[in-house]
Amino acid sequence: MKQFVIIGNSAAGIAAIEAIRNKDKESKIVVCSDEDYRSYCRCLISYYLAGEVKEDGILYRSESFYRENNIELLLNKKVIRIDPKKNRVLCLDRSQIDYDSLLIATGSRPKFPDIQGIKKEHVFGFRTIKDAKVIEGLLPVTKTICVLGAGLIGLKAAYALRKRNIEVKVIIKSKQILSQMLDADSAGLIQKKMEENGIDLVFGQDVVEIIGNGDIKAVKLDSNKVLGCSMVIVGKGVQPNTQLAQETDIKIGEGIITDNFLRTSCPNIYAAGDVAESFDITLGTLSINALWPIAVEQGKIAGANMAGDKLNYEGSLGMNAIEFFGLAAVSLGIYKTKDGETGYEELKFLDSKSGIYKKLILKDNCLVGAILAGDIRNSGVFLRLIREKVNASSLKDKLLAENFAYPDIMGLVKERERLYV
Ligand SMILES: Cc1cc2nc3c(=O)[nH]c(=O)nc-3n(C[C@H](O)[C@H](O)[C@H](O)COP(=O)(O)OP(=O)(O)OC[C@H]3O[C@@H](n4cnc5c(N)ncnc54)[C@H](O)[C@@H]3O)c2cc1C
Repeated sequence: MKQFVIIGNSAAGIAAIEAIRNKDKESKIVVCSDEDYRSYCRCLISYYLAGEVKEDGILYRSESFYRENNIELLLNKKVIRIDPKKNRVLCLDRSQIDYDSLLIATGSRPKFPDIQGIKKEHVFGFRTIKDAKVIEGLLPVTKTICVLGAGLIGLKAAYALRKRNIEVKVIIKSKQILSQMLDADSAGLIQKKMEENGIDLVFGQDVVEIIGNGDIKAVKLDSNKVLGCSMVIVGKGVQPNTQLAQETDIKIGEGIITDNFLRTSCPNIYAAGDVAESFDITLGTLSINALWPIAVEQGKIAGANMAGDKLNYEGSLGMNAIEFFGLAAVSLGIYKTKDGETGYEELKFLDSKSGIYKKLILKDNCLVGAILAGDIRNSGVFLRLIREKVNASSLKDKLLAENFAYPDIMGLVKERERLYV
């Protein structure tokens, strides 16, 4: 009987549990999580903070899940070292756990800028249910909050706080929100929606200091302007939790490097989810796409392979879906080309009045990326065309048409799996 150890009890870790148990009902599975909380959908913590979803609604697996699958779940159990020579992990509480096969599914953590005042008590990342609960507890005594950064997480936090009638100022270094997933036109539509709903977006400036004697009174910008607030939420991107691999021979790039079986450079150690650097279909290189469905897919494949399968991971592609104040947007794959980059063709449709924007990017007649805002109905169809690298030359005139839909691509995509539509 084998012993599997999984570090991380979230999207990737749980998918791996399920995949292992599909194949192997007997072996022991130990799951370590440094959070003191059952598994929950991290993506939903902003809706919980907004008051739109109750705590029960964000739980990901029931308590009985672990019992039924015969899992030893160790909450509040931080792993501090991996010893690949002894096939053993060491925990903060000095306990040691042996493994035959190990999965690192440690996810990522918020990046905090190195500025004066960043360690103050009411400066938060927005990553865990604990963050959401502590922030929520302070709302009755909070009038204004500054959010640093306008990526997905910063804006989700801003949206939630606005829904709770907090004055929100988002400080954005660049000239565009959501610059990691949208182009300027689509971001403009979301920006308008945010501003119409009372979120103050401050562009082209960065916070250089968080001011206050103990508590927070204001933030100071690089323009010397000072904005009053009593809380700061940092949404300036995430970094993979690779620390455990750093003291071993496991290869690390931006994240933990994995092969097409999601194995690390150490054969009985796998990595999946936000911590794993793996093949990106549209970029053609290794990359991290820190997204929930990707973590689930990778967890499934890593878990199955740990249990003896030889499943090939075909790779991920960046795909983001958001909705703010009723305006939805989706971006898939390559969402903008770099200045001077050649070989790409763009098809665009913009109707500012109705708030609809569509952009498709093709290379060698194959769709490699898309942005849809206001009308996201065809996201699944475009995702399918991208994933299957379908030659879309016969479709070009139709792709942006209002009535373009799945039947138009039948015969061009594989018949067997309809997974992505
Ligand atoms: C506010 C917010 C909104 C998001 N919205 C979306 C969205 O709309 N769509 C989308 O696709 N994605 C979204 N994401 C991203 C998504 O949540 C992540 O991609 C996903 O959670 C990654 O899953 P994971 O299992 O790799 O890691 P994580 O969910 O980060 O889980 C890793 C777990 O491992 C634990 N851990 C780390 N180190 C150790 C250790 N040494 N010992 C023990 N335990 C450890 C961590 O505490 C954590 O519990 C959002 C994220 C946030 C924070």
